[in-house]
Amino acid sequence: MKRDRLRKLAGEKRFIPGIYNYCDRWCERCPQTARCLTFAVEEEDSDPEARDIRNEAFWKKMSGIFEETLELLKESAKEWGIDITTLDAANELRREKVKREAAENHLLCRAARSYSERVEDWLKKKEAFLFETAAASREGVDLDEAFEVIRWYQSFVCAKIMRAIRGAMEDKEEPCDEFPSDSDGSAKIALIAIDRSIAAWAVVQSYCGEEALGIIAFLDHLRQAVEKAFPKARSFIRPGFDSVDLNT
Ligand code: SF4
Repeated sequence: MKRDRLRKLAGEKRFIPGIYNYCDRWCERCPQTARCLTFAVEEEDSDPEARDIRNEAFWKKMSGIFEETLELLKESAKEWGIDITTLDAANELRREKVKREAAENHLLCRAARSYSERVEDWLKKKEAFLFETAAASREGVDLDEAFEVIRWYQSFVCAKIMRAIRGAMEDKEEPCDEFPSDSDGSAKIALIAIDRSIAAWAVVQSYCGEEALGIIAFLDHLRQAVEKAFPKARSFIRPGFDSVDLNT
């Protein structure tokens, strides 16, 4: 997409600023696509060939986005009076690495990663079997949807908890009470993903009895630990979702 078109699109009043920051990126199931700039940009660029990473068009598109981004970055830096050529990139990268490693090793992140691995193991062993028996034994029960939800959030939970932990570290380094905390927003969407995963596992459990209970219990512990670490997360207002009370 050309820069001018992007600017024009971004200026449209229908978009809710920052709505994509605390969503679950599941655009197919999102009730706010009409108000999301990210979705609008992706839709405008949705040439089927460009979506295929093996296709040359994809890489051309990536290269186009990169160049446009670099141009916008330079323009913005100039407006803010920053000379990006003098930024200490090596130091910044080192600091980023330290923060990333600290976040990755945080207990909550390790627990969320462990959840993702448990899901992988469990589904490898059971998914095909469950589909066969479910299809044979019950009609119209949306087991496939439950698996879809589990799969969607399987790694998402860990990614969002990691972002929340990193955000909390940065808040500690440079406290700022002016805005709602990004770490609370990230923790909130992680909690929503956990809630929905628990509900999806409950559907699976109705087919396999006790076997899914261990995972549900594990997720519930993780949910409680995240709530304890981020006590303001549940009350964080996500633009476009919580403010319009869509129960998402
Ligand atoms: S707000 Fe909705 S449409 Fe926009 S990126 Fe998130 S899930 Fe997709």
